[in-house]
Amino acid sequence: MYTALQLQRKLRLKRGEAEIMVVEPQPYMTYQPFLPEAAAGSISPRHVVVPLRRVLDRCRIVVGEVRSVDHDKRVASVVTPATEEEGGGATEIPYDQLVIAPGSVSRILPVPGLADFGIGFKTVEEAIGLRNHVLEQLDIASSTRDAGVREAALTFVFVGGGYAGVEALGELENMARYALRYYHNVRVEDMKWVLVEATDRILPEVGEQLGRYAVRELRGRNVDIRLETRLESCEHRIAVLSDGSRLPTRTVVWTAGVKPAPVLAATGLPLNGRGRLIADATLRVAGHDGVWAAGDAAAVPDLTADREGVLCAPNAQHAVRQAKVLAGNVVAHLRGEPLTEYRHKYAGSVASLGLHEGVALLYGRRFKGYPAWLVHRVYHLSRMPTANRKSKVLAEWILSGLFKREIVSLGSLEHPRAEFEQAAGSGGDGGRPRP
Ligand SMILES: Cc1cc2nc3c(=O)[nH]c(=O)nc-3n(C[C@H](O)[C@H](O)[C@H](O)COP(=O)(O)OP(=O)(O)OC[C@H]3O[C@@H](n4cnc5c(N)ncnc54)[C@H](O)[C@@H]3O)c2cc1C
Repeated sequence: MYTALQLQRKLRLKRGEAEIMVVEPQPYMTYQPFLPEAAAGSISPRHVVVPLRRVLDRCRIVVGEVRSVDHDKRVASVVTPATEEEGGGATEIPYDQLVIAPGSVSRILPVPGLADFGIGFKTVEEAIGLRNHVLEQLDIASSTRDAGVREAALTFVFVGGGYAGVEALGELENMARYALRYYHNVRVEDMKWVLVEATDRILPEVGEQLGRYAVRELRGRNVDIRLETRLESCEHRIAVLSDGSRLPTRTVVWTAGVKPAPVLAATGLPLNGRGRLIADATLRVAGHDGVWAAGDAAAVPDLTADREGVLCAPNAQHAVRQAKVLAGNVVAHLRGEPLTEYRHKYAGSVASLGLHEGVALLYGRRFKGYPAWLVHRVYHLSRMPTANRKSKVLAEWILSGLFKREIVSLGSLEHPRAEFEQAAGSGGDGGRPRP
């Protein structure tokens, strides 16, 4: 989105200098750093996404998925919802210049049961689904007489201690803790929140000292943090850990890393050992004229590193800045002007651990607790694209400070036809759908 936005500003589209086409399965861009707050209900789901048609009003938006690229013929094969419904094949879209930025997907390891029971945390649908799921577990625990079901419902296991896992756990634990004041028979101490991390630290992005603080802070809230531990299996609603423990649970959230989008393997373009597109510092894909890459999908040299061979880490900070340089370079290339190299010294990271609690390392300065949480909010608000979305997120924060938090699970929204189908199947006796 950022590349297309810059291109539509810089290119003389009305004079026919170029045409920009954006292919994307969802007609919106997701600001992923706000997903944990969306899961906690502090921001409504439609405000963490930005509608592409509004922002990229001079581009052609194709809602579809690129399945492969043939750069010798300069065509991309795209499957749209219409072609899938009609049972047709992929549409071939020709191009002169190709920008590849499909990001990453969850890196799923062959853990038994994970594919069936694991929950990801990369999309707005997953974040809202998880919010509903957690609230639903509180309802289940409150209404069952079976001690085993209750224990499993109140045990929440998160695997992976990077910012996605830690922030998601921190925000959801905080939300569930708040919600429990409205449950007469479930206490905060009845819940078990577990963070499983394979290495000996969490939040490597904020440095060792703040990582240790985050561990202390979460443990102080009764979060069970298991370092140097792995999830071995999660079949039959039991999470088995490498330290030998067996945790009955209905919730296993998998945030143990990402891998580049699978479409990259179907482009015939050069990939590094981790499957990222090999790009140079001008964001051109090595040895392929007219192909550019940025973001999580691209292996871009970090020119600010003190040694050679270091790559830019896959995060939003690099992705957004690379997009701007990339767009400038595409325009320069089309006009025969010199290209610019991407160079950005990593500014640090911010992470929220729930309402009013966080850690932040920015330009070498460390913040923790409430100041860090404020830094986190200000930083991400400033990065959120468009003034429209910035104002809506700010308004929501103000309103949520004034009024009580929402604690209702709207999981049934995911199955809007359930009641109608049941009524039709049962002869219209008005029976309610099963939860
Ligand atoms: C919960 C969470 C919290 C995070 N917090 C932070 C943070 O605090 N700070 C930070 O710097 N980073 C953070 N990140 C990481 C950051 O969001 C990513 O590094 C960043 O979004 C990468 O940008 P991108 O443009 O490369 O990919 P994405 O933002 O993932 O965008 C890629 C787009 O390509 C589309 N796409 C994929 N495949 C295809 C295809 N075949 N055809 C067409 N389109 C396709 C996808 O639908 C997607 O919209 C967080 C990530 C998560 C999940």
